[in-house]
Amino acid sequence: MFSSKERFAALFLQRLEMTCGKSFKDSTKLDQYKTLGIMVREYISSNWIQTNEKSRSNSGKQTYYLSIEFLLGQLLDQNLINLGVRDVTEAGLKEIGISLQEVLDIETDAGLGNGGLGRLAACFLDSLASLNLPGHGMGIRYKHGLFEQKIVDGHQVELPEQWLKNGNVWEVRNADQSVDVPFWGHVNVSDQNGRLTFRHEHATLITAVPYDIPVIGYDTGTVNTLRLWNAEPYIHHHETDILSYKRETEAVSEFLYPDDTHDEGKILRLKQQYFLVCASVKSIVNSYRKTHKSLYGLHKKVSIHINDTHPALAVPELMRILLDEEKMSWEEAWHITVHTISYTNHTTLSEALEKWPIHLFKPLLPRMYMIIEEINERFCRSVWEQYPGDWKRIENAAITAHGVVKMAHLAIVGSYSVNGVAKIHSDILKEREMKGFHILFPKKFNNKTNGITHRRWLLKANPDLSAMISESIGERWIKQPEALIDLKSFAYDAAFIEQFQLIKEKKKQELADIIFCTSGVVVNPESIFDVQVKRLHAYKRQLLNVLHIMYLYNRLKEDTGFSIHPQTFIFGAKASPSYYYAKKIIKLIHSVADKVNYDPAIRGLIKVVFLENYRVSLAERIFPASDVSEQISTASKEASGTGNMKFMMNGALTIGTHDGANIEILERVGPDCIYTFGLKAEEVLSYYENGGYRSREYYQHDRRIRQVADQLINGFFEGEADEFESIYDSLLPHNDEYFVLKDFSSYLDAQERIQSDYRDRRKWSERSIENIAHSGYFSSDRTIREYAEDIWGIKPME
Ligand SMILES: *Cc1c(COP(=O)(O)O)cnc(C)c1O
Repeated sequence: MFSSKERFAALFLQRLEMTCGKSFKDSTKLDQYKTLGIMVREYISSNWIQTNEKSRSNSGKQTYYLSIEFLLGQLLDQNLINLGVRDVTEAGLKEIGISLQEVLDIETDAGLGNGGLGRLAACFLDSLASLNLPGHGMGIRYKHGLFEQKIVDGHQVELPEQWLKNGNVWEVRNADQSVDVPFWGHVNVSDQNGRLTFRHEHATLITAVPYDIPVIGYDTGTVNTLRLWNAEPYIHHHETDILSYKRETEAVSEFLYPDDTHDEGKILRLKQQYFLVCASVKSIVNSYRKTHKSLYGLHKKVSIHINDTHPALAVPELMRILLDEEKMSWEEAWHITVHTISYTNHTTLSEALEKWPIHLFKPLLPRMYMIIEEINERFCRSVWEQYPGDWKRIENAAITAHGVVKMAHLAIVGSYSVNGVAKIHSDILKEREMKGFHILFPKKFNNKTNGITHRRWLLKANPDLSAMISESIGERWIKQPEALIDLKSFAYDAAFIEQFQLIKEKKKQELADIIFCTSGVVVNPESIFDVQVKRLHAYKRQLLNVLHIMYLYNRLKEDTGFSIHPQTFIFGAKASPSYYYAKKIIKLIHSVADKVNYDPAIRGLIKVVFLENYRVSLAERIFPASDVSEQISTASKEASGTGNMKFMMNGALTIGTHDGANIEILERVGPDCIYTFGLKAEEVLSYYENGGYRSREYYQHDRRIRQVADQLINGFFEGEADEFESIYDSLLPHNDEYFVLKDFSSYLDAQERIQSDYRDRRKWSERSIENIAHSGYFSSDRTIREYAEDIWGIKPME
């Protein structure tokens, strides 16, 4: 099909007429996109079947990665690249007058995630398939992904996202593998020959229908599966109010919750969690039963990983199957469960730790609750045996206490592995947040520093740079990203540097065009592109960045002798719709932009841009065009970050705190190739524990701080006198929980170092290339290999 451009072109025209029922001349870009997508699916179909058979019959083990989010982005281009048919496709389409790029641009992002956690799951799928590992994703087929963001007068407005509007060429509906998920009702307990049996009666059933998406590995025959569950009415449902039943059912897979690192605590969210878990665990067990008579050896052939606590009900659900359906003893069932499930913790922010009120939980999931109570009782008893009389220890570690179910505690007790996502984060888990559990289960805890797939974030997003890398060090890096280290010798090669700079300039010009088209702001492509793109959150401190811009503005206005290399500050960020403070920061960025961008006294030296609707496809255009990567979270708060790695891989230099994976970037590139500043995690944590920080002192003693803080409320932003009061209050009356003012001065120093270093472009480029050379460690191939070897015990197929 893709053997030559002529053959491809002929087949493409034939398929176009067949699938769209139109002649080529009447076809739209969407028709062409669909045709190409269908051809790719057809092309991989036998490999998909084979991978399925291989992993089923495989005497080895399989992993199922359960995640409430998969932030996939677009799939067509990556699939063409991974199959090695992109060039022939582009050439074939060109023959018949079609631009591949225009066809690719038609695809809407699959935005089934909020940010880092969902994107991590997507990167892991690519690495699993590319490493020939038997690992499959399971998630929810939300009808609407993360909201589309519009900016109106500087304010965020949310619109429902519509990724399925034009259908989805990648999915296959497998209704024959549907499973039913019970909610509500009650549990009937009876004694049958001395064994208690449990029947869930009068439940409301929802049918989970799987939609399977192929996950195509790079240059390999492996095609794994991402299974997304759709909630549909149970056909034999008997209830009088059929319409409201239908509405409530469909609501379960209708919307992705738009919260990032925040616990919503709503009943619909709990329904989504059990829907995902129940459907996934049942389908895993069904597939295992096809080749095994009993479930006694399940943990030897199956591993179930839970991405954060959202799927933590996998623990009681697997127990339920083993106890109620397989009639195992508690001890047998528990042994299998705790040897099947592993768990990744993503945050230590207390507002993100899931806690379900028992009064909501118990009626919705009565059998789950019974099993959790039993797990809790046995766990507490074992702690008591180890530490008799230590009530405090038991109270702190209990799974249910004070009227809530603590999902992280359930996940830790019910799994054999608990990992954090960067060294510092794993250490904080062990030594502070989960210290009690670490003492009880020292061997469960481990670290797996996050990674990103370099095949999307470098090979696909930056084809020019990728080609140049391959010309210099060969193509080995695409399968073995650690080979990027060979670039080190080119970091000081004049011809290489010159070509690298040309590519960066081209990417900056392309982003400047996007900025102009979407926001109307003209930016100077020769300015420093200083970029902060990530979800909007107080701990990520977009505010620190903004206050620095206000300081620069003030300085340029007051001191005509002061000059800088032109700098463009680029933001992209969605705020959770209910997060009032975050939305105010978006408004503030726009108000600062309006001040700065049009003031002639600034001489165009600084520009501020907010890119609307930050998402994967836009991110792919931003990273290659960036000079400076803003990773300025309050130390200890950002578990890892993955945006930092995408920037690094494209040659941006990091300005960052000693937080998350920034620390490991520093360890690799060395202090000359990164701009670190600010409080250390221990200092932040010690302030939280012992007090002693008074933001007002920094306000009083630093004129620069006083000026920018006052400008939030003194009419500096004309007609918006009250708009930013809550931001001002967060900094002063509320004593600046995130240490923005404390870190302000050292952040300015780091920015000044950037200003002075950027003047020596050659040196700057050397540092960029050093960053790329060391970025191989941050490929998710490395991360996934570690999971496969240390946690899951799975091996490459064949
Ligand atoms: C990588 C990525 C993120 C995570 O960014 P962080 O800086 O690590 O918070 C969020 N959203 C999108 C679209 C991404 O691609």
